[in-house]
Amino acid sequence: MRQLVYILLLAVLAGNVSADIRVFACEPEWAELARELGGGLVRADSATNALQDPHYIEARPSLIAKVRRADLVICSGAQLEIGWLPMLLSKANNRNVMPGSQGFIEATSLVERLEVPASVDRSQGDMHPQGNPHIQANPHNISIVAGALAARLASLDSENAHSYNAALANFLDRWQAAIKNWETRAVPLRGRRVVAHHKSWIYLEDWLGFKELATLEPVPGIPPTAGHLSQLVSQLGTGGAGAEYIIRSPYQSDRASKWLSERTGITAVMLPLTVGGSDAATDLFALFDDILDRLLGEST
Ligand SMILES: [Zn+2]
Repeated sequence: MRQLVYILLLAVLAGNVSADIRVFACEPEWAELARELGGGLVRADSATNALQDPHYIEARPSLIAKVRRADLVICSGAQLEIGWLPMLLSKANNRNVMPGSQGFIEATSLVERLEVPASVDRSQGDMHPQGNPHIQANPHNISIVAGALAARLASLDSENAHSYNAALANFLDRWQAAIKNWETRAVPLRGRRVVAHHKSWIYLEDWLGFKELATLEPVPGIPPTAGHLSQLVSQLGTGGAGAEYIIRSPYQSDRASKWLSERTGITAVMLPLTVGGSDAATDLFALFDDILDRLLGEST
């Protein structure tokens, strides 16, 4: 009996020190960042994985249950998740994580958003009406979101604020050093011309000094059409207009990239857009290592 009481006591104590802040991230990069900053104090789940298009997922009951239990929801925003997040939030009915509350972070609202349209013609189906939401492809944006995320964790779990602050300082030290290394490696890539499948890469292009000549999608969110692809062949010509890569994400079919590559001679390349998007991209550091490896042709 005494032994049983002792075991129960241990279980209760263990319960008190286990992960007590639940983070629900819409995309894997933010779940990974929460793990970097929260360590064992945080349990982070991502609604989407790197092999899914974050614009489109199903609002499954298991996700609703996770939002219901969450202390903090962090999403890219700028309408990236408009097709499923509002439904999750409404069905979960957790007022602690509603937009505008302490428990909700919209990452795109923290950084300089690119491609904000002067006016939006929704009849054309543009799915980036509030600007481009794919901000994670520039590691400087990750630094900014890290600061905001650590501050929010510290305010939600003030008892452990010192741990989040220390983890942030540690992360930013390593992250700034990694950025310096990536920027040095990327010097020979400056000025490269690229074609992208979807407008997923403009933050990477802005960071590395690339010029995007065209996209395979005629409008963001509208799949490549035969007519649009033929027009790209005329536009780029058999020399590819000096373009070096046709970039796609792992969840996009390679058919359109290959088709255009065969007719223009531009190399088709898959880049992981987030953590888990390739075998090598196992965390945020490895994600950018792998992107650089692939762009430099050093991928193994
Ligand atoms: Zn998009």
